[in-house]
Amino acid sequence: MPYDLITTLLNFPGFQVSDIRTEDRSAFRMVFVTIESLEGTHRCGECGKTGLPGYDSHLQEVRHLMWWQSFTVVRFRRYRVRCPDCGIRTEALGFVDLRGPRVTKPLLGLVYELCKVMTHKAVGILQGLHRGTVREIDKAMMEKVQSERSLEGITVLGFDEIAVGKGQTYWTMISALEGPRGPELLNIVEGRKEKSLQPFWTWFGKDRARLITHGVMDMWTPFRKSLRTHCPTAQVIFDKFHVIRHLLDAVNEVRKQEFKRLGDRMKGVLAGKKFVLLSRRSNLKREGRKALEELLLVSPRLLKAHFLKETFGHLWEYRSRIWAMKFFRKWVASLKWSRMEPLKRFAVMVEEHLDGILSYCEKKVPLGYVESTNQKAKNVIRRAYGYRDDRFKKLKIIQACTPWMNEFQPWSHDP
Ligand SMILES: [Zn+2]
Repeated sequence: MPYDLITTLLNFPGFQVSDIRTEDRSAFRMVFVTIESLEGTHRCGECGKTGLPGYDSHLQEVRHLMWWQSFTVVRFRRYRVRCPDCGIRTEALGFVDLRGPRVTKPLLGLVYELCKVMTHKAVGILQGLHRGTVREIDKAMMEKVQSERSLEGITVLGFDEIAVGKGQTYWTMISALEGPRGPELLNIVEGRKEKSLQPFWTWFGKDRARLITHGVMDMWTPFRKSLRTHCPTAQVIFDKFHVIRHLLDAVNEVRKQEFKRLGDRMKGVLAGKKFVLLSRRSNLKREGRKALEELLLVSPRLLKAHFLKETFGHLWEYRSRIWAMKFFRKWVASLKWSRMEPLKRFAVMVEEHLDGILSYCEKKVPLGYVESTNQKAKNVIRRAYGYRDDRFKKLKIIQACTPWMNEFQPWSHDP
């Protein structure tokens, strides 16, 4: 056969190349590869029954991977079969899906991978596909990966909310913080109420929920209730990221009060300092440190609030509850005469949740993952890909926050 080598390279089992030609179409050179089936029978696209004779056929063209910088089209006869169980159905083929865009599976896989590192527009230009087609492929592939992912062996779940769009709309992200694949974002549900989480539990499965030993979350009652209902033996851990977020809100409240109290006189020093005040001092560059020092010089109250903020993180360094507790008591004691109501309210909140916060002493969960997931999810929502498709956004967030999904692996897709 004259096309043996091309048949080998194309690697569509059961098919051989019978013709290759080029055509110039709208400024591009296209390669048309005609292939023929080596088998006389077909497989039902509905039930998968094999050995069926062809009922009728038509010529089909699907886009395939580029060949030496030329867009390639594979031409073949697509049969319909008369299946004894299903009736007249399109045949199933190994290299192309039954529905969806007219591209081969290897091209679907490549487009999906490229979408992890490039914009849809760029992938469209690179592969000669319409941007809408690229997006359709990206979504369908993410949906497939999400529906086929394993949920076995997970022992620690994390719950986190994220604000979407304008107004009071929240989604809840549920992560696996410990499991065979490391930290990964499992799913996202709409809302942050106890009943909003119900679809997650249904999807996750009763038996798997029973194996959960810890649930990591914000001091937010609905999450706690939901965990207690579905994983009765799981212990609650209020994680550092969320506790610190409440602390930063409190410090920011103090800043606003100081702004009001000191008034116009100090406006120049106080204005625009939210960032330097709330950032960790060690993360600030020289300019930031200078601005911070100016600020703390004019307001003893902010100096104290800043000091308390900087030291609070030590709470997560203890391995013993007793010592962590002692540290916290000391921290609270230094608030006593300070007239910083927001920080006092924060201390009360911590006191009420102290048991769950100190659980971290015995069970170290990956705190960095919780924080970075929140940040990555915000980034995806901000970019939003110019679409109003919520399902698409959720799948993109899941992909971005799940390391094994997000890894760029352009060579990993089987033909
Ligand atoms: Zn069938």
